[in-house]
Amino acid sequence: MNAEIIAVGSELLLGQIANTNARFLSGHLAELGIDVYFHTAVGDNPGRLKEALAVAESRADLIILTGGLGPTKDDLTKETIAAHLGTGLIMDEEALESIAEFFSRYGRPMTENNKKQALVLDGSTVLVNRHGMAPGMLFEKGEHVYMLLPGPPKEMEPMFQFEGKPALARMLNAEGVIVSHVLRFYGIGEAELEDRVQDLLESQTNPTIAPLASDGEVTLRISAKAGSEEQAWQLIRSAKEELLERVGSHLYGFDDDSLASKAVELLQSQGKTVAAAESLTAGLFMSELASIPGASAVLEGGLVTYTAEQKIRQLGLSEELLSRHGAVSRECAMAMAEQVRPLFRADFGIGLTGAAGPDSHGGQPAGTIWIAIASESGTEAWKLELPGMRNTNRLRGVKLTLHHLVQILRKQPAS
Ligand code: ATP
Repeated sequence: MNAEIIAVGSELLLGQIANTNARFLSGHLAELGIDVYFHTAVGDNPGRLKEALAVAESRADLIILTGGLGPTKDDLTKETIAAHLGTGLIMDEEALESIAEFFSRYGRPMTENNKKQALVLDGSTVLVNRHGMAPGMLFEKGEHVYMLLPGPPKEMEPMFQFEGKPALARMLNAEGVIVSHVLRFYGIGEAELEDRVQDLLESQTNPTIAPLASDGEVTLRISAKAGSEEQAWQLIRSAKEELLERVGSHLYGFDDDSLASKAVELLQSQGKTVAAAESLTAGLFMSELASIPGASAVLEGGLVTYTAEQKIRQLGLSEELLSRHGAVSRECAMAMAEQVRPLFRADFGIGLTGAAGPDSHGGQPAGTIWIAIASESGTEAWKLELPGMRNTNRLRGVKLTLHHLVQILRKQPAS
């Protein structure tokens, strides 16, 4: 099965919103083994939507449409599809009831045009909207499958995940399952990783192996299709073994793991704590850690010392150190890490300083970042020279810090 995603909405064409729905759906369709060949965006215009539908029908089996299911005049998706396919629209009583309930819950009167949202394509399977009003639909006609989903991501994403995707999976493998497993790597570039496993990427059809890179991390998604979950896992396990033999030294986690969750997990299991002194990241390191449940057991706190004055005043760095080496230096990062550790009585002290960009700072080019980690066994520092944009650089600095913290923790025996 191959698919085309048609995002409906003039705001997409006017540059007011990004088509994140297509990105979300493509990721999930890949997990089902459905190839997405085209993303289309079209305005709220029935004529042009019909044109887009005709083109999609000529090249895709599954056509997923998002947007245009709401109550207003410009929400024309299902009316246009109904006319295009010669299918009627009928009132779905359950959807109508849930719309009425929605209004009564918020104490607002239900206007006549809101009832329009409960109209569905005659003969379609209704996809329940648990986060909004307009129901989605799954409709088969001839050789094509159509799925209509609402535009707002907070409605569309759960609807697809909990109703649309399982329905497609059932349709695809009446007698099978698809299982996906993600391997997460850090400290190896996408090109190098691909190079080392290229033959496996090319030769594998079941399971398939798909690489993806973002913010310095690389993932390999292994997806297997088999008669049972156990058989699918067997296929995954043997591919995983081969991959890890070649690039396992860069692996840091699986599936929903993140560098921050790994750091919290390891700190927790070793009964260790951390504190940070942050300059260019201005709290981003602590925020990443705090986004993980259980962070309160391992994150003591920290300081944002953005200016030289605050590095001196809050952390007690010497004026001499700053004037001799500058704020963007190994010496400054190490002193920040060493000073913040006892201040917060933490096992690990983190120092993060650098020139985020776009301008240079203290004579150091944009993208120069110094990271230091202090512990009772000493202080280590690392330099990063990044070409990216300001906020990408800040995030990369945080990720590299978490990576080194994870490496250090892995080498330590549990207390
Ligand atoms: P509503 O009932 O809110 O009108 P709808 O199904 O009619 O929902 P639209 O009116 O087309 O959807 O879009 C509503 C909002 O959903 C948009 O303003 C935008 O914020 C978001 N949205 C729509 N399409 C997309 C998309 N492709 N990617 C990301 N967000 C989108």
